[in-house]
Amino acid sequence: MTTFNDFGLHADINRALAAKDYSVPTPIQTQAIPPLMKGRDLCGIAQTGTGKTAGFSLPSIHHLITYPHKTNPRSCRMLVLAPTRELAAQIAQSCRDYGRFTKLRVTTVFGGVPINKQIRELSQGVEILVATPGRLLDLIDQRALRLDDVEIFVLDEADQMMDMGFIHSLRRIAKLLPSRRQNLFFSATMPKEIAHLAEQFLEDPVTVSVTPAATTVEKISQYATFVEQKEKQALLHAVIASEDIDRALIFTRTKHGADRVVRHLAGAGIKAMAIHGNKSQSQRTHALQAFRSGDIKLLVATDIAARGIDVSGVSHVINFEIPNVPEQYVHRIGRTARAGAEGKAISFIAPDERPYMRDIERVTRSKSEPMPLPENFNELVRNLPKPVAPPRDTGSQGRDPNRQRQEANRGRGGAKPQGERGLRRDGAAGEGAEGQRKRRFRPRNKSVGAHKGAVKRVG
Ligand code: AMP
Repeated sequence: MTTFNDFGLHADINRALAAKDYSVPTPIQTQAIPPLMKGRDLCGIAQTGTGKTAGFSLPSIHHLITYPHKTNPRSCRMLVLAPTRELAAQIAQSCRDYGRFTKLRVTTVFGGVPINKQIRELSQGVEILVATPGRLLDLIDQRALRLDDVEIFVLDEADQMMDMGFIHSLRRIAKLLPSRRQNLFFSATMPKEIAHLAEQFLEDPVTVSVTPAATTVEKISQYATFVEQKEKQALLHAVIASEDIDRALIFTRTKHGADRVVRHLAGAGIKAMAIHGNKSQSQRTHALQAFRSGDIKLLVATDIAARGIDVSGVSHVINFEIPNVPEQYVHRIGRTARAGAEGKAISFIAPDERPYMRDIERVTRSKSEPMPLPENFNELVRNLPKPVAPPRDTGSQGRDPNRQRQEANRGRGGAKPQGERGLRRDGAAGEGAEGQRKRRFRPRNKSVGAHKGAVKRVG
């Protein structure tokens, strides 16, 4: 398996990755980082949620710190263009996180906020500038910024840029860039006009793509139940009671959502743990170990946290929330039906998630079998037990004294807990150990249990 250490990234970057608890590169990172380290142009077909930001920013940060030089006033060495201010802010934050042990300056500029502060921030020059196209051109027009020194140019979410009518701004910006530069172009889709736009920016690019392979889902029985969002927890309890589960992965879209599901299950006396980015590495390791060994049958996960999970004997994947990126769905349900085994995927679809499911069915060229709500469902909803904190903290179990102290303080209304940083450092130390444990482990329960009821193959 590829690890971040294989890429030859600067030690300061590897430190930042350890602090963020990243251990396994995502597919787009595995494909994109090596050619980018060699200075190649890149055309990436990937959506948000795939880890593409680290895919392009890690090798760029590596370049900026390996070849340091003083920035000129009102200029930048790396320019990232994003269609929306939210995405721009998110990218900038990621760059700050990945570059936290370096002296690189990262600035974001977008419209809708006063321009003067942005002018001041750019006056000395910055290494990394993340911008939306309109405000970038305003700043250029006001002589607050020049693009002559750009060494790395990233165009993110090109298809959305086109949809938002940025094409003329992009053409103008392209003319202001120096001819010698590295270019990175990302788009979720690559229709003809986007491919044409890419050609204008890129020189002999490497193309990488993380579009889902429809074939992965063939061995998996897929079911879908339409249910109101607020009734999903009751449905989950019903499914757990009626299905013959060896091990189930339950997916939520958010970290808080995952914790909520665990608390509700605990309220009903059902043991589960959550694994997501807010957990320390020791908690994540512990949860995974408990899941692998069969101590717990239910693991609640967010998409990205589940990437490194490779556990055999997962009989069920339950999509408590539907991913808005079809590729995530394929990744999720691919956790079951490993090594030729059969698996079952059950999706809980709220009214506002129907379009996501339609996209998924189009991309995977498969259709989920409708699974009706249980007969006594209204009663189940009415009698849903109140959520409680799981009997033992999901994963700390005496392993993480920091977290236990924090929780004790919270309970007493005591001093504010230490920030996540303490936990993160603790977690970083656990990474290597996790990998080793993973290799040594032999699951106790190898077979996927027979499923109750008729399981009809779909797809
Ligand atoms: P992106 O597609 O770049 O927006 O990334 C989606 C989320 O995945 C972000 O919250 C990142 O912090 C997280 N992420 C990216 N790469 C990894 C990785 N290799 N391991 C764990 N989390 C990651």
